[in-house]
Amino acid sequence: MVDRTAMDYVIPPSPRPTLPVAGSDLLFPVRRVYCIGRNYAEHAREMGHDPDREPPFFFQKSPENLIADGVFPFPAHSSDVQFEVEMAVFLKSGGVDIDAARALDHVFGYGVALDMTRRDLQGEAKKLGRPWEVGKAFEHSAPCSPVWPAAQTGHPSAGEIWLDQNGTRRQTGDLQQMIWGVGEQIAVLSRYFKLGGGDVILTGTPAGVGRVARGDELDAGVAGVGQLHVTVA
Ligand code: MN
Repeated sequence: MVDRTAMDYVIPPSPRPTLPVAGSDLLFPVRRVYCIGRNYAEHAREMGHDPDREPPFFFQKSPENLIADGVFPFPAHSSDVQFEVEMAVFLKSGGVDIDAARALDHVFGYGVALDMTRRDLQGEAKKLGRPWEVGKAFEHSAPCSPVWPAAQTGHPSAGEIWLDQNGTRRQTGDLQQMIWGVGEQIAVLSRYFKLGGGDVILTGTPAGVGRVARGDELDAGVAGVGQLHVTVA
């Protein structure tokens, strides 16, 4: 590709979204954001689905939706905005048709993210067979922790994942309850998409999703990875 300066663009190009890397001044450049649906059986059941019959499915958020400033502005056009705590996986490399057994070699690190959802708009989209973007990929819809390198965390496959709303436990589960593990998610995704360094995967939420209100304080965490604090503004 030709090296081009800002002068070459018809409008100024947007900067690449980034996340801070914990314990360092370095940044993680976000490329794409994939989210897996219904990856914990109890959550699939609470949403009215049979978890045993469904292969994994994915949707995307926009890279700009991942924000690590600890603030979630309550969005417009919804009266049912819900939290979903998820472990985030950050890829350092990618490819196609990745073998599940080698998939974790592509992981740079892990984090804690919220897949914030305008549930009323998502519900309407489901009913009408429409895409989910208006319910899932709105501005600030993915509050995120810093990235913790796998060199520090290892590759967690067990441990509690939880969310407290104003000090009360709302969501709790264990990474072991994932229907599709991280390596399997990467393998399946890479059959449909060419994955790359900078890609982020939100790995699904355990049971207990619920509504937020302005002023809420949300604390979430994944054992062995880290924690996230978010204020609903
Ligand atoms: Mn989710």
